[in-house]
Amino acid sequence: MAPTADIIIIGAGISGLAAGCYAQMNGYRSQVFEANDRPGGLCTARSHQGYTFDGGLHYIFGTGPGQPFYSLWQELGAVQRLEFVNQPEFMQIHGPQGEVLRVQSQPDQLEQHFLALAPEDAKLIAGFCKGVRKFKDFDLSMLQQKPKSLMTATDWARLGKQVLPFMGVLGKWSQLSLRDLAGQVKNPFLRSAMPHMFAWPDVPVMVGMSLLAYLDNGNAGFPVGGSLSFARAIEQRYLDLGGEIHYSAPVERVLVENDRAVGIRLDSHDEYRAERIISACDGRRTIFDLLKGKYINRRIEQLYNGHLPLHSQFQVLLGVNMDFSQQPAWVTHLLDRPVAIAGQPHAEIGVKHYSFDPSLAPPGKSVVSLMLTTHYSDWQTYGGSPSRDAENLIDRMEAFYPGLGAAVECMDVTTPLSLEQATGNWQGASCGWLLTKDTLPLMIKGVPKRLPGLERFYMVSQWTEPGGSLPIVALSGRNLIYEICREDGRTFAAAG
Ligand SMILES: Cc1cc2nc3c(=O)[nH]c(=O)nc-3n(C[C@H](O)[C@H](O)[C@H](O)COP(=O)(O)OP(=O)(O)OC[C@H]3O[C@@H](n4cnc5c(N)ncnc54)[C@H](O)[C@@H]3O)c2cc1C
Repeated sequence: MAPTADIIIIGAGISGLAAGCYAQMNGYRSQVFEANDRPGGLCTARSHQGYTFDGGLHYIFGTGPGQPFYSLWQELGAVQRLEFVNQPEFMQIHGPQGEVLRVQSQPDQLEQHFLALAPEDAKLIAGFCKGVRKFKDFDLSMLQQKPKSLMTATDWARLGKQVLPFMGVLGKWSQLSLRDLAGQVKNPFLRSAMPHMFAWPDVPVMVGMSLLAYLDNGNAGFPVGGSLSFARAIEQRYLDLGGEIHYSAPVERVLVENDRAVGIRLDSHDEYRAERIISACDGRRTIFDLLKGKYINRRIEQLYNGHLPLHSQFQVLLGVNMDFSQQPAWVTHLLDRPVAIAGQPHAEIGVKHYSFDPSLAPPGKSVVSLMLTTHYSDWQTYGGSPSRDAENLIDRMEAFYPGLGAAVECMDVTTPLSLEQATGNWQGASCGWLLTKDTLPLMIKGVPKRLPGLERFYMVSQWTEPGGSLPIVALSGRNLIYEICREDGRTFAAAG
């Protein structure tokens, strides 16, 4: 059978759509095959009774004109098609005695508030806020501007010069997690609240600082219409560039001849051929299922042997006949009495509503998300019902939001198992391998995008860029096409 395309891409998540857009921009005929009936992968949404249930997106780096990552989204047609909401406060943490920690993005306000709560920690608070101010000028995209394999000595020298003014803060805050920092805090409430400020305690402090800095710069907005609108904007760009997408088309096998990838076979047994195959879906599934584990080495085995941390969550999305618009957008409640989910005690429950984007619920009503971090293994052995757990959780939240249970009109429950089933992501991981101080070097170095012994086959996605996130996986697609252009002696082109 003759090739139907130059490049076949498996998966219409943001990395796959980005790879497709840049392929088309560079004169390659591409086709995307997606298992689901819509684009976005983890960046998607579902509709229920007039409510839009978002997959969980909080912010997207690169929504501020002229700021880091903005030109990426211009090239992908997202920022031209959408409006973004910027929020001055990332989260509040409410303690069991009624204490409130407000995680504001403006560093002076943050400092004043933290000092009022914990004057005994003045030195630590000043150091933290100084870091946030410094990261306002840090360009997080600089490390991903070009494929690392193609960086010349001049590129490295330029990068070194850009990074030099930040070496102090990077050295100090990349090797400390929020949990570590909290261990140095004297005030009991700040000590218990601090690890939860950015939703996972093992995040390096510099990541949280960068987030607050970008929020304060107006460069971390939420797309009006939510995740699916964002994915649809990039899908439209891809179609406008002449790309072709096949939905409800799960790939069952990568076809290989003489150690060269030549095509794909779908679950339906239909086969398609192309000069190159890019997998933009789960790394483990790609390597061990679609390719039957034939092209691996020790490094790949180690990456996927389960020792690296993953982040997965239990999420209950509610359509409620209640107006949440006067409530803080995101509160993490620290409970005095844990609630059992999948048989395990949980004392930190996130409650987020989306009333800052009225397009996501009917007038006067709200979408509310209840979230907590949970382990995949707890669900593998759990004999109970996720819906029953969700109901128990709603009952417990009644103390903070009286009338919540009676106001629920519809509900959607996601566990790590169901997210794995829906998106293919190993253990329902939200961002590939979790970004911690230990995995940070892996993120900077990158994970190989080719497999040993297999020609014409490439990988992108959050599994080649540990820590994931939308701009980083989109750059993963961009950089791969840059490399392919180089292989073919073409000059890479990217039009906004
Ligand atoms: C709850 C939550 C909150 C998040 N919040 C943020 C945030 O605020 N900001 C941010 O930047 N990032 C956030 N992220 C992370 C971000 O969403 C992901 O890193 C990113 O979307 C991953 O994109 P991807 O293209 O690498 O993979 P995916 O989105 O997983 O896309 C892979 C695609 O491949 C498809 N697929 C899988 N197997 C096959 C197959 N065999 N055949 C065909 N298709 C297949 C899947 O259906 C999917 O569409 C969040 C993630 C989660 C889960």
